Amino acid sequence: MSAGEDAPATKLVHAGRRPEWTHGVVNPPVYRASTCLFETLDAYEAASRNPDAGLYYGRRGTPTQWSLAEALTEMEPGAAGTHLFPSGVAAIAAALIASTSTGDHVLMADNVYEPTRAMAKAILARSGIETEFYNPLICADIAALIRPNTRVIYLESPGSLTFEVQDVPAIAALARARGVLTILDNTWATPLLFPAIRRGVDLSVQSLTKYVVGHSDAMMGSVTAAPDAWPTFRNTALRLGQTAAPDDSALALRGLRTLAVRMERHGKTALALAEVLSNHPAVDRVICPALPGDPGHALWKRDFSGYASLFAIVLKPGDRKALAACVDGLRHFGMGFSFGGYESLVLPVQPLRTATRWQTDGPMLRIHCGLEDAQDLIADMNAGLDRYLS
Ligand SMILES: *Cc1c(COP(=O)(O)O)cnc(C)c1O
Repeated sequence: MSAGEDAPATKLVHAGRRPEWTHGVVNPPVYRASTCLFETLDAYEAASRNPDAGLYYGRRGTPTQWSLAEALTEMEPGAAGTHLFPSGVAAIAAALIASTSTGDHVLMADNVYEPTRAMAKAILARSGIETEFYNPLICADIAALIRPNTRVIYLESPGSLTFEVQDVPAIAALARARGVLTILDNTWATPLLFPAIRRGVDLSVQSLTKYVVGHSDAMMGSVTAAPDAWPTFRNTALRLGQTAAPDDSALALRGLRTLAVRMERHGKTALALAEVLSNHPAVDRVICPALPGDPGHALWKRDFSGYASLFAIVLKPGDRKALAACVDGLRHFGMGFSFGGYESLVLPVQPLRTATRWQTDGPMLRIHCGLEDAQDLIADMNAGLDRYLS
């Protein structure tokens, strides 16, 4: 199959479904395995010489995990391979650990996912790796921050909670020319909306927990690597003992098949709700790069093939009681972490910054639009914001 010529939505259906893995059914079976048996001494010795040739030991996966990993690689044109992890944070940790050594300098966007920041400050720092946080809107000016010992530029775009859009292609090109590795947290967009490896990134990280699993019932992560970065990354991930459960991999594979239709619906609803909320008197500001007035709009339009489910609103100043009246009475928006599931979520958030300033007068809410009817979500959130004012 010439997968390279198919549209992404078509690829999502076919990717990773090798006949030798599926044995005539549509999906690969769930292989629950630690031990894999070798029929003969010859087979055992051959497998030991080349453990990638087939089944070897559960930690290296079975056709269930291979199918998901291959499908994710196919979704990133230009990528050499994908390694699976038990969570998105585990994937981020492996990407950072595989790419750095004592004495290195890491440039990290100031709007990264909070646990990523914590990892840099605790784990990397303990190994003598310095992390410098940079303004996510820096674009090509990041060149001035690159030192002789800069090893990694870590990006997240749009950024967690505040959705700044970075000029990923420009930064990736500039980094590559200087021998600096780029790691992108691509969870918000997935490769469907932003094929990161094609845009020049070396390691594309996803929390599969979000859109790929898509049903809030499993946690997983992945790192997809460009050809130059793949061998080192994969060896490190294996040495770290990172592996993903077969049952969870099957759930992620199931989610992946419907990603295109879900993302289209998520994006449409998010945009509709964002537009309505920008006119509500309780709202000071809507942060959503799909809206023409947003500072990230031009880059988002240039680089992304659609919108995801997430945006944020900053409310006019109000007290905690008003905020509680707003969120506690919502019927369709549950309050909780994560996003990408079929159900809508709302979360009061307080972005943490060290290199730049982030200040709002009123509280801030992150909103994930699920697959409910858009008009029901709009009515529910409008009513919540009316309660905030009353
Ligand atoms: C949720 C999330 C992660 C972490 O993923 P888990 O699967 O929850 O460990 C990483 N990056 C971003 C942007 C996320 O939203």
